[in-house]
Amino acid sequence: YDFHVVEVGELIRDVAEQWDDRQHSFIRMQLPEQPVYVHADADKLRQVLHNLISNAIKYAPDSKVTDLRLQVQGSAAFIHVQDYGLGIPDDAKPHMFTKFYRVDNTDRRKIGGTGLGLAIVKEIVEAHGGTVRFESELGKGSTFIVTLPCMAL
Ligand code: ATP
Ligand code: MG
Repeated sequence: YDFHVVEVGELIRDVAEQWDDRQHSFIRMQLPEQPVYVHADADKLRQVLHNLISNAIKYAPDSKVTDLRLQVQGSAAFIHVQDYGLGIPDDAKPHMFTKFYRVDNTDRRKIGGTGLGLAIVKEIVEAHGGTVRFESELGKGSTFIVTLPCMAL
């Protein structure tokens, strides 16, 4: 890891722009007015956002919208990636960050992947001293929440 001071809002805008170009998807962004600085490896953090946005779009075949939110509370930055897609079955929830785990059901049989995206997200976020968790309801959608320690201004 190559840690530097990174402005998260700019990084989010950057990654979101790449997705909007590529997909028939629409990313709604909600960023704070002030900059949010974290100690991070920018490329790794881009990978985290990329994997989460990729899932949000891929597992929401009937919804075009992904919501990206950045918030600061005290010395923590919260990044929310919310979709309105398939959601995650309760029995799959304990396994989501396990390498090569993929949810097996008829809804998503045709959606390709290796089952590594979220395991990589967790590894990178934890290497930054952060955490990742999610909330999801089957048939309604999912929200992945990354928390990172941020620098006080
Ligand atoms: P890849 O390595 O290409 O990311 P993947 O998307 O299958 O492959 P993960 O990103 O680790 O692997 O996700 C694991 C499984 O969790 C997926 O197969 C999918 O079923 C489920 N999943 C992940 N994100 C979402 C989401 N936003 N909504 C619904 N299901 C999800
Ligand atoms: Mg994935």
